Amino acid sequence: HQSIGVPQPLKMFGTEEQKKKYLPRLAKGELSAFALTEPGVGSDPSKMATTAVLDDDSENYIINGQKLWISNGPVADLLIVMARTNDPKEERPEITAFVVEGDSPGLTTAHRCDFMGLKGLQNGLLNFDNVKVPKENIVEGIGRGLALALRTLNTGRLTLPAACGGAMKQALEMVIEWANERQQWGAPVGHHEAVANRTATLAADLYAVESLTWLTSALADRADTDIRLEAAMAKLFCTEALWRGIDSALQTRGGRGYETADSLKGRGETPMPMERLLRDARINLIIEGTSDIMRLFIAREALDPHLKIAGASATSDKVDFVGAAKFYAKWYPLLWLPRNINFDVNLPWKLSRHLRYVERASRRLARDLFHMIGMHRQGLQKKQQILGRLVDSGAELFAMMAALSRCASPGAPTNAADLADLFCRQARRRVNGMHKAIYCNDDVTAYRTARNVLNGEYAWLDDNIVSTWRTEEKGEK
Ligand SMILES: Cc1cc2nc3c(=O)[nH]c(=O)nc-3n(C[C@H](O)[C@H](O)[C@H](O)COP(=O)(O)OP(=O)(O)OC[C@H]3O[C@@H](n4cnc5c(N)ncnc54)[C@H](O)[C@@H]3O)c2cc1C
Repeated sequence: HQSIGVPQPLKMFGTEEQKKKYLPRLAKGELSAFALTEPGVGSDPSKMATTAVLDDDSENYIINGQKLWISNGPVADLLIVMARTNDPKEERPEITAFVVEGDSPGLTTAHRCDFMGLKGLQNGLLNFDNVKVPKENIVEGIGRGLALALRTLNTGRLTLPAACGGAMKQALEMVIEWANERQQWGAPVGHHEAVANRTATLAADLYAVESLTWLTSALADRADTDIRLEAAMAKLFCTEALWRGIDSALQTRGGRGYETADSLKGRGETPMPMERLLRDARINLIIEGTSDIMRLFIAREALDPHLKIAGASATSDKVDFVGAAKFYAKWYPLLWLPRNINFDVNLPWKLSRHLRYVERASRRLARDLFHMIGMHRQGLQKKQQILGRLVDSGAELFAMMAALSRCASPGAPTNAADLADLFCRQARRRVNGMHKAIYCNDDVTAYRTARNVLNGEYAWLDDNIVSTWRTEEKGEK
């Protein structure tokens, strides 16, 4: 959280005075935290309840409320805190960001949170009880706090793909050791095709994850490129690839994958910490925007230009049919025309064909999006499964591009081409499957079933168990 805590927002939005005052402290090692989430709001922070009210002296704001799951929160020297500066009864929230000293009177840790993983993390539920903050500690200006938080996360979430790559390397190292050493049915388990396939997929996915990390980080370093879409796609793709990868590595370790490192050590075996890897990996699909929210965010960015062209908006049904027809009459046919693009990159044939596929599949994806807009109009925004397939396809194509361009870069190991080739073959199958499922799926049935499940119509389905968490009988309150 030194990445998204106080340094990143100050670097991006702070005044010269604020930078001079706080950045040297952070550079010397003071810890910072980023306080957005609350017990009542997670993915939709615009509905936050924490307030900051201008004091009678008009010099200070008084913050009241609670912030939940704040990493570094209990030990932070400095926090960036988002709070409402207008009346919570007003419909439009005005959210403002403040730099708050960790030792401010009234700021306390109400509870230290403990998680299934991240055991080294200091994280807590923070209470703000009349915490006084000078008004010069406002970052970016009144009402700019939510945009600041979201824009901070845009680049901040790039640390996650890097961490995912690191964890996948750990998993691969364990797999290589074990799949070679363990003999079953007269051969190392890694030679049996099912295990071999998992091993190859883990290696190929790791290559793609690392390639995406390098590519998006290089784009971020340029500082003149808007990378919010790329960062979101990298976060979405890499965290999900990590979870698949750890699951596959655990399977290859068999019973030892499920045994704790301490227990392995206790009976004289190498204490590979698969359990820790699995527990630590899972959070990445939740923090800094859950996978669902990443898909919605990316989809909205993809839909927005189309809504603008059609003169429509997310909330209104009005459509400028004439304006839209004029634009799409030129735009749409071009998406069907094959393009003879000279990519001018140094790639062997087995990889350059994937490059051509990315170009073709990107046009197909644009057509699919257009068809879905035509079918569902503004209602498409609620079709999260369709949007999810469109977004996941985009992320796969982006990962393919990253893997291919890394192979084409000077100094790439020659055998990297095999990993990129395998990744691209597998990604193509996934993309083609998602393309089909955009048109032929069971989304409506699944949605109806889910509503019925939640309404209790299948109450008999989870009967006959002794609940592991309920304190009263079901239905009693
Ligand atoms: C270990 C840990 C560290 C954290 N560190 C910080 C921190 O330092 N600072 C901070 O501010 N926060 C922090 N968080 C909070 C974290 O960012 C939130 O958990 C995350 O934003 C999701 O919010 P939520 O858990 O309330 O889930 P909810 O928003 O309640 O969502 C529950 C489920 O519904 C889905 N969902 C919600 N809305 C939609 C929708 N519109 N469409 C489809 N699906 C939807 C979500 O994807 C999720 O699966 C941390 C959390 C943890 C567990």
